[in-house]
Amino acid sequence: MNTVVDTKLIQALDSAHFLHPFTDFKDLNDRGARVITKAEGVYVWDSEGKRMLDAMSGLWCVNVGYGRKELADAAYQQMMALPYYNSFFQTTNVPAVQLAAKLASLAPKVGDRSFKHVFYSSSGSESNDSNVRMVRRYWDLLGQPERKVIISRNNAYHGSTMAGASLGGMSGMHAQGDLPIPNITHIEQPYYFENGKPGETAEEFGVRAAGWLEEKILAVGVDKVAAFIAEPVQGAGGVIIPPSTYWPEIQRIVDKYGILLISDEVICAFGRLGHWFGYEKFGYKPDLVTFAKGITSGYIPLGGVMVGNRVAEVLIEKGGEFNHGYTYSGHPVACAVALANIEIMEREHLVEGVRGELGAYFAKRYAELNAHPLVGAAETCGFVGGLVLVKNKQTKERFKEEDAVGMVCRAHCFNNGLIMRAVGDRMIIAPPLVMTHADIDALMDLIHMALDKTLVELK
Ligand code: PLP
Repeated sequence: MNTVVDTKLIQALDSAHFLHPFTDFKDLNDRGARVITKAEGVYVWDSEGKRMLDAMSGLWCVNVGYGRKELADAAYQQMMALPYYNSFFQTTNVPAVQLAAKLASLAPKVGDRSFKHVFYSSSGSESNDSNVRMVRRYWDLLGQPERKVIISRNNAYHGSTMAGASLGGMSGMHAQGDLPIPNITHIEQPYYFENGKPGETAEEFGVRAAGWLEEKILAVGVDKVAAFIAEPVQGAGGVIIPPSTYWPEIQRIVDKYGILLISDEVICAFGRLGHWFGYEKFGYKPDLVTFAKGITSGYIPLGGVMVGNRVAEVLIEKGGEFNHGYTYSGHPVACAVALANIEIMEREHLVEGVRGELGAYFAKRYAELNAHPLVGAAETCGFVGGLVLVKNKQTKERFKEEDAVGMVCRAHCFNNGLIMRAVGDRMIIAPPLVMTHADIDALMDLIHMALDKTLVELK
């Protein structure tokens, strides 16, 4: 395929016609978008021929890396056999069924928290809308319709639809369009670096942070609370990794009050944390699991919800028709690509790699960043990493917002051929799971270089 393009022409058409997501349209029009034209392995190239190590796996999704012919072949073959058919009106298709069964087989078996069922969508946002619909339906069917409130966390990201953005805790999103919608409320995130008290250990903080959920349940009223939603590790919020004590305490609280637990694993599933599902890493037991992104390594859109037995049995036995679904629920091509993607992950032992020696090597090399004068704390969990840039390492003084330290660092990353994301004063990565030891070494060299240049610029 010809990947040579006229950059100026594409940029002009881009600014004339394409409204980008999460983008200041005017600002982008003035500067011109970077045009990405090809990708292979863990690298992407722009239209000017610049090669960049993609340490964000696209947008947390290209788990098996770029250029996988098996995935293109799976899509081609399925398109030729059956490119589309709906799963409304008592019809089904083979890849959707096979994928649902495969997902059920990958999920750990833990009593009424086991997973046998899947509800499909095309994205993480839609999946979280489905969660809201299912959670409300569940409580209605159990004769407790007043249980409507879903508790989430500040700085969480759960998508960009009305329900997704409301479940999320991004103040910038809430400021546009009267969000959150009613019956969604938030607690503080378990961010030890920011919210830990002097002298408090991370483990003590983890228990205290989970306690904010119990306080909120009591404040809202136990019989009004339907569910708690959270990511195992908060991703888009800046890779906020909870202390080890956080999730066990959350589990104790949701069990005590009987509320549903939704694990949003749009980022954390499919090997990202060294397990098929992120909740396995922390040992908790969700009732619903949101997935998207890594299930197809981003090659084609697919999302969904793993519906645990506790919820599925009520919906199936008592529910009658569930008046909810999407044209592309169980899309045969997307499901065929997902099956091929999971096959690659199994064949190449990618999940085990993140959990094992490769993941340990990544963690060790990333931890070395703690020695850099700009780094307040650098942490990893599986194949996500986050670090906070600080003005003063000893006092942990943060940069001011107007310093735009993350943006400065991100620009140095780009200029040096590294895609790393900035979230305020945090720099984050989620590299493809196919990174080799040599790729990890190259990544660390590039991060060091960007940090050094940022330090010089901000001195
Ligand atoms: N949930 C989480 C945890 C996410 O990270 C994202 C996207 O980044 C979403 C939901 C929304 O997914 P999508 O952009 O596919 O709608």
